Amino acid sequence: MSEKKELSFFEGVGYYTDKASKFINMEEGLLEQIKVCNNVLRLKFPVKGNDGKVRVFEAYRVQHSHHRMPTKGGIRYSEHIDQEEVMALASLMTYKCALVDVPFGGAKGGIKIDSKKESVDILEKVTRRYASELIKKNFIGPGLDVPAPDYGSGEREMAWIVDTYMAFNNGELDGLGCVTGKPVSLGGVAGRTAATGRGVSYALKEVFSFEDDMKALGLTTGLEGKTVVVQGLGNVGYYSALFMQQYGCKVVSIAEYEGAIFNENGLDIESVFQHRKATGSILNFAGATNLAKSSDALELPCDILIPAALENQITMANVENIKAKVIGEAANGPVSAEASEILFKKGVLIIPDMYINAGGVTVSYFEWLKNLSHVRFGRMQKKHEEDHNLELANLLEKMTGKKMDDLERKLFAKGPEEVDLVNSGLADTMAKAYVTIRQQWKEGNGQYDMRTAAFIVALNKVGSDYEQMGIWP
Ligand code: NAD
Repeated sequence: MSEKKELSFFEGVGYYTDKASKFINMEEGLLEQIKVCNNVLRLKFPVKGNDGKVRVFEAYRVQHSHHRMPTKGGIRYSEHIDQEEVMALASLMTYKCALVDVPFGGAKGGIKIDSKKESVDILEKVTRRYASELIKKNFIGPGLDVPAPDYGSGEREMAWIVDTYMAFNNGELDGLGCVTGKPVSLGGVAGRTAATGRGVSYALKEVFSFEDDMKALGLTTGLEGKTVVVQGLGNVGYYSALFMQQYGCKVVSIAEYEGAIFNENGLDIESVFQHRKATGSILNFAGATNLAKSSDALELPCDILIPAALENQITMANVENIKAKVIGEAANGPVSAEASEILFKKGVLIIPDMYINAGGVTVSYFEWLKNLSHVRFGRMQKKHEEDHNLELANLLEKMTGKKMDDLERKLFAKGPEEVDLVNSGLADTMAKAYVTIRQQWKEGNGQYDMRTAAFIVALNKVGSDYEQMGIWP
């Protein structure tokens, strides 16, 4: 295996689809339809810089499956993007949505650009031009295809996209639902920015709650005191690390592209984040040691390794040096297919990307629902619940003869804010999905890893949709 060239990210997704299909009773043609990417849009467009020079940009939008509509998936801004990578990411989106019962087909976008190096002016022009190309080709719209942030993009880019969409579709009532991950003031939902990292921590809390699974890894249940290494301090990595620290974990190492830092007693995530903001680097953080290379962090002994940067970070080149007991794939495709197989044989528990990072699309779904319903979550119920809770408090005081102090009354009465509802919906989604995937994994009786189990669950759900709809003659 090691002498051959490793499978690409896209081939790796295909490898696991094929592997899972051996445990599924489904017609071959249907499996093939599920596996392929339905629509692949490759774009080239010109953008004029402030120096008056024209530059040609390359971009993609891939819609993997239309078994549910709209299709959904982020837009990656990366100078390394290519068609295959976007196809792999779009495929994962279909399976991811199926796993967490989000009623979308999978899609993904990519723009070949380094968002760290370009000026804000160029980024805005490229984003708006990309959005207008999608509009022209019918590749965006609240009922068609709904992008979101991914690597290299965030709220700012989503705001440019919604503004461009609305300029071309003036008066479209549900137009705000054409993209998710928007700023809250522009139709976004509270909690979306942190959602993927929060989902990672909710998922790991669930994983660490099963005593027999933890025993098999030589671990105790619960996250308190567990050692964690995080690669990537971007959106997903920062929030994953922050919430793991809040759960009582010791985040002993963080890696960024400029290097990695280590402290056996745990790093304070917010302080590291502020240090990087102020100095431009995570290195030389007070109270931590710099590691020789960024990639050294991946090879540290730890209970949980969270790769939250990019794909193919653990491959045949470094898999033998991995010492983590659990790997939470916060990024998409961070462990190659070959490396996954080796880690499975070594008894490492990999919590697959298509489940563990599904918090982003789950809360994007909530945002889309909010846009279609035109009302903030909790707006109708909050006051009603607070009044009702106060009545209960009065009753309780009367029955017990005990008075609550002001703080107790406030806590008792509190009605839900939008962010509370979003986070509880996310927690419930991550917990339920894990129970289903874990059950499938257990049914495999050691024949396959949790990634294969997740593929089996997802393929069965997508296949069942197709079977119920029937295939157009
Ligand atoms: P981001 O751009 O906010 O952050 C990525 C970080 O990784 C950056 O800080 C970058 O400098 C760092 N990085 C890049 N290469 C590195 C390397 N070799 N070593 C260490 N650090 C490195 O991107 P993000 O939104 O956090 O996405 C990260 C991953 O999570 C991607 O695989 C993405 O597809 C996946 N993901 C993101 C979301 C989301 O909601 N943003 C949802 C699901 C999955």
